[in-house]
Amino acid sequence: MTELTGMTLAEVKAWCGEQGLPGFRAGQIFGWMHRGADWEEMTNLPKALREKLSAEAVVQPVRILQQRRSAIDDTVKFLFGLRDGNCVEGVLMRYHHGDTLCISTQVGCRMGCAFCASTLEGCVRNLTAGEMLGEIIAANRYLSQEEGGDPDEKKRVHNVVLMGSGEPLDNYDEVVRFLRLLREEEGTPISLRGVSLSTCGLVPRMRRFAEEGLPVTLCVSLHAPNDRIRRQLMPIANTYPMEDVLDACRYYIGKTGRRVIFEYAMTEGFNSSERDAEELAHVLRGMQCHVNLIPLNSVPERGLQGVSEETVRRFLRVLEARHISATRRREMGDDIEGACGQLRRRTIQQQMDT
Ligand code: SAH
Repeated sequence: MTELTGMTLAEVKAWCGEQGLPGFRAGQIFGWMHRGADWEEMTNLPKALREKLSAEAVVQPVRILQQRRSAIDDTVKFLFGLRDGNCVEGVLMRYHHGDTLCISTQVGCRMGCAFCASTLEGCVRNLTAGEMLGEIIAANRYLSQEEGGDPDEKKRVHNVVLMGSGEPLDNYDEVVRFLRLLREEEGTPISLRGVSLSTCGLVPRMRRFAEEGLPVTLCVSLHAPNDRIRRQLMPIANTYPMEDVLDACRYYIGKTGRRVIFEYAMTEGFNSSERDAEELAHVLRGMQCHVNLIPLNSVPERGLQGVSEETVRRFLRVLEARHISATRRREMGDDIEGACGQLRRRTIQQQMDT
């Protein structure tokens, strides 16, 4: 089956040409597809044609299996179903500057971070560019139908973060293709300045990514002030020392002119003392960057715990005193298992139990 969601309009036109269809059909199909319609809803295509094409090509590779809306902050957690029976998670977060969708880039993950639920069963497979885009299309369709919204306001996802399950730079080609698809004006256009890509620090890929000419914000999961601590939490630290990760960040900043965001999940007993904060401030000194502090979402399977608000505040004060820009990241959707990997795991476990 051909997956049309992973194609540009020009590519869909070429495909339609191969099917012996006139050019205007490509525009119709492309428009419907990006509004979330499946073949049977494309009512300005003859029925016989829809039936023929549906046997050959996929226009909606992602569907919403479950959705949970937080009573606290309207965050929506999605469980997205893929055509081969796998599922991945996405989270829609409501900010005053627009809705942000967190998408997955792989089914599972093979990076093995000690605190992360997404990696517990390893990586099942990469998502295709069309599936990543399909997550956005599905969320947009949800938003257009959401109850209680202003009917005159055209709601859609404004910003995208690649922070769901998976390591985006471990699925490099499809992720880059996906990012380029966001530039298709007739499709699902999203400004790349509103896109953030988070990596655990695959150094050669970070350098290559800096060359792509894609102005996305690079986020790097640092989680430690030195390699000794980082290796306890992140196996990838054995392959790429922190010094090389920070050099790659400087290279990215130099190439793109954009600051890098460091993510730091505060984990009780590992990386959260004032000494750790001092060391972190020292290694980041002079860099055009921002630190996002996140109290670890405890993952019972891993036996790791988050920290108190007081610990976060103390850590933050040390960074601020040393002129490192830092904030504590707001937690969203606490009542709906907003953190990555939790809902998918829960669902798979329930399927196994029944
Ligand atoms: N593989 C990429 C992106 C996916 S994870 C990366 O490593 O950056 C998105 C972010 O959530 C990462 O910073 C990751 O380290 C963090 N994260 C994973 N599990 C977490 C948990 N239990 N609590 C807090 N943050 C977590």
